[in-house]
Amino acid sequence: MKLSEKVALVTGASRGIGRATALKLAEEGAKVAINFAGNVKKAEEVKSEIESKGGEALLVQGDISNFEKVSEVIKTVVDTWGKIDILVNNAGITRDNLLMKMSESDFDEVIATNLKGVFNCTKAVTRLMMKQHSGRIVNMSSVVGLMGNAGQTNYSAAKAGIIGFTKSAAKEFAPRGITVNAVAPGFICTDMTETIPEKIKTGLIEKIPLGRIGNPEDIANTVLFLVSDEAAYITGQVICVDGGMAM
Ligand code: NAP
Repeated sequence: MKLSEKVALVTGASRGIGRATALKLAEEGAKVAINFAGNVKKAEEVKSEIESKGGEALLVQGDISNFEKVSEVIKTVVDTWGKIDILVNNAGITRDNLLMKMSESDFDEVIATNLKGVFNCTKAVTRLMMKQHSGRIVNMSSVVGLMGNAGQTNYSAAKAGIIGFTKSAAKEFAPRGITVNAVAPGFICTDMTETIPEKIKTGLIEKIPLGRIGNPEDIANTVLFLVSDEAAYITGQVICVDGGMAM
């Protein structure tokens, strides 16, 4: 097992990519704190699945855009397991619309969850990881943060922001042995992409050299690598997991 004795916090772990990541890290022996916004039933299902395979899991509900809530989440994890070795900043939302039609609240909500949420969670674990002289942080960006996408000015700004944040934090934390990397998924089959009309989906798949939509597990495998000992010399990087879409 690659992560025995490790404690991981995965934000947005009740569904999609976060769920797959929580399950993958638990499979490799990590104790996993499952953060989510409001979907208790789905979060409990992830916890039960981890426990049914002999793993340890903890539910930590809390809106990551709220700094006080995030502090409570971190405190709960540390009170329970004494430390946090791995933070996966995965939680995210979309409020898509053309810029002409996008409301100020659509812009603000996406920035607050997708970008400020990453700041909140990272800041809250920094002191712990600094003291430990070790830690792994993985931030979920998107190919849209590299390429842009019509209808997603809010989302792509947040995802591009995550890339700048990742590189700056990687430089700040490197002297303490903490690595910070970003994963940029392409088009992945989750609730977030479920509502995309079939015609648009077909067009998107045509732009993917590997010819298929990605699975949440494709992303979880990359996160596992980045938080494992094998990735000890990798920091400040953005890994596209997109079937070749962004190249
Ligand atoms: P998803 O299926 O919609 O799941 C979103 C998760 O985030 C849920 O667990 C949700 O909790 C949680 N969440 C949302 N707002 C939150 C908040 N304020 N505080 C705490 N948790 C919150 O999304 P996904 O497709 O797995 O996406 C995961 C990440 O990958 C996101 O950052 C997304 O931007 C990124 N990404 C996805 C794709 C894709 O194609 N799917 C591509 C590129 C990047 P509840 O269940 O409680 O609502």
